[in-house]
Amino acid sequence: MTDHGHAERAAPGPVPPAVQRDRWAALLGSGAPVLADGAMGTMLFSSGLQFGDPPEVWNVTQPDVIRRIHRGYRGAGSRIILTNTFGGNRLRLSLHGNESRATELNQMAAILLRAEVDAAGGTALVAGDIGPTGSIMFPMGLLQVDEAVDVFAEQAQALIAGGVDLIWIETMSDLDEIHAAIDGVRRVAPEIPIIATMTFDTRGHTMMGVSPERAVRALIEWGADAIGGNCGNGPDEIIPVIAKMRAAAPDALLVGKSNAGMPELVDMKAVYKAEPAVMADYARDARAAGASIIGACCGSTPAHLSAMAVALGVDRAG
Ligand SMILES: [Zn+2]
Repeated sequence: MTDHGHAERAAPGPVPPAVQRDRWAALLGSGAPVLADGAMGTMLFSSGLQFGDPPEVWNVTQPDVIRRIHRGYRGAGSRIILTNTFGGNRLRLSLHGNESRATELNQMAAILLRAEVDAAGGTALVAGDIGPTGSIMFPMGLLQVDEAVDVFAEQAQALIAGGVDLIWIETMSDLDEIHAAIDGVRRVAPEIPIIATMTFDTRGHTMMGVSPERAVRALIEWGADAIGGNCGNGPDEIIPVIAKMRAAAPDALLVGKSNAGMPELVDMKAVYKAEPAVMADYARDARAAGASIIGACCGSTPAHLSAMAVALGVDRAG
């Protein structure tokens, strides 16, 4: 990688654990709201990704597109930005024959985002994104805990090798699976900050029947540093999730990353129609309900995040 004259830029590679912790404390220690980022998939589709294509392969084949998407969110004021690795575990990658590429695709994703954040200077954190395996855990399904922990450890190891500051485990429905993900991360990185969010899209619970109260208590016990909800059916769903977590865990650092409204099916595709002004209101409401880390999920763009930054009064230049 070439040096563009930023004297503070470190060599590519893992961020030392003490530096990860210092950066986390510097960004979140004051209690001020922090803007996370918005959708990756929505931006990829508008950049030409076809349905069914594995997005993680673009970390290698279209690195400039991935960096441009990250840059858009950073410019909007996002200070926690997620790598393009939502489906980057080997079980999910096996759906399109890429299971042997987990290390390559995750490490490259982290390198791309690290380069983008470092080039901008400032205080944004690089979050290694870990999503569900897509498999159902034993005994309802076939995925054993030990294998799940291995799968998540492999992904986390590659993200850390590429230089992430923290790990963000998201869109989980099953407590056993998110527990395996936390354990997998902790196996390779005992100290790295972990954000853990689940999707409460089924009558206020996850698809597997987990309530916000139960989720927040379990995730605190398992050592997550920040906990909340992401994706789902939009602000009207996620605000009560945050409020219930706050009531159950008064001291927890809480997170909201709502979709841009309720998904509507158009030509067999989910589309999200909330305007930036609606997401600005959501950001204020999420803050009032107790969230400290506030971002957006499916359907959102840098325009939504810009409106949220203004609503939260965060420093967009920092
Ligand atoms: Zn989403």
